[in-house]
Amino acid sequence: MLKQNILIFGHKNPDTDSICSSILKERLNKKKGIQESKAVRLGELNKETRYVLENLGIEIPEMIEKVEEAQKVILVDHNEFNQSVQGIEKSNILEVIDHHRIDDFRTEKPIYFTTKPYGCTATILYEEFKKCEVEIGKEEAMLMASCIISDTLLLKSPTTTEYDIKTLKELEKIANINIEEYGLKMLKAGTDLNDFSEEQLINIDSKNVGKGEIKYIIAQVNTVSIPDVLKRQENIEKAINNEIQKQGLSLFVLAITDILNCNSEIIALGSRVDVIEKGFGVKLENNRTFLEGVVSRKKQLLPQIDKYI
Ligand code: MG
Ligand code: MG
Ligand code: MG
Repeated sequence: MLKQNILIFGHKNPDTDSICSSILKERLNKKKGIQESKAVRLGELNKETRYVLENLGIEIPEMIEKVEEAQKVILVDHNEFNQSVQGIEKSNILEVIDHHRIDDFRTEKPIYFTTKPYGCTATILYEEFKKCEVEIGKEEAMLMASCIISDTLLLKSPTTTEYDIKTLKELEKIANINIEEYGLKMLKAGTDLNDFSEEQLINIDSKNVGKGEIKYIIAQVNTVSIPDVLKRQENIEKAINNEIQKQGLSLFVLAITDILNCNSEIIALGSRVDVIEKGFGVKLENNRTFLEGVVSRKKQLLPQIDKYI
């Protein structure tokens, strides 16, 4: 890969927002004349994202595992280094576009740093396209809409903001499709877990969110049937315990999220499962608990866990 390229990527274990926002940012940059921009990815695509790109006939971005020193990069949909590419510390970060918490981020030079507490990175990019007077075509509209649908679970997650709602309405007009119908198909495409091993399943959407010395992981899988996933609980626990051992984790939380009813069943393992009990006022039974109305790692799980850990 040419070093003069500006590599644009989202977080490890990429989701639809990470992949599609990278593609959108590449397109925006090119329209602005920054031709050397290149969207890449840090991991395998999940089934939902695969569905989005296949449906649009868009090529899957190339995968990278690390970056060389001084490599020019743009981060989308993340800013925490432990969720980013290997070598990020010594790269040349030109820009960040994100909608997550800021955790220990520092650079030597001034950079473009655009974060907003929206439901989705693509909602920020929509505003950037508008600001730069770059036309949003049907394909871009579909990419943006897919990100918003994915990150907000069709606007039902508490992370949803008025900007996401307004933007999705505009995008529906440009894309000229029924968002409800498309969105449900897209989300359901991501819930087929059959050909994943338990090791893969707990890694589809897992994020390292350590605090100081304490390392823990919050992973999430979407489903239309929690009981279906729980049939595999025993093997899932084995996989989680392996991960705890391997990485020296204090806690591993797996949220099995029902995308239709917007609830989650939690499986929690590790020496600090007490924070789940304290944080949510529940008692774990068989390493599990049901959390009514909880679907967001960022807004519901992470802050409560962080508070008590
Ligand atoms: Mg993401
Ligand atoms: Mg996102
Ligand atoms: Mg997510």
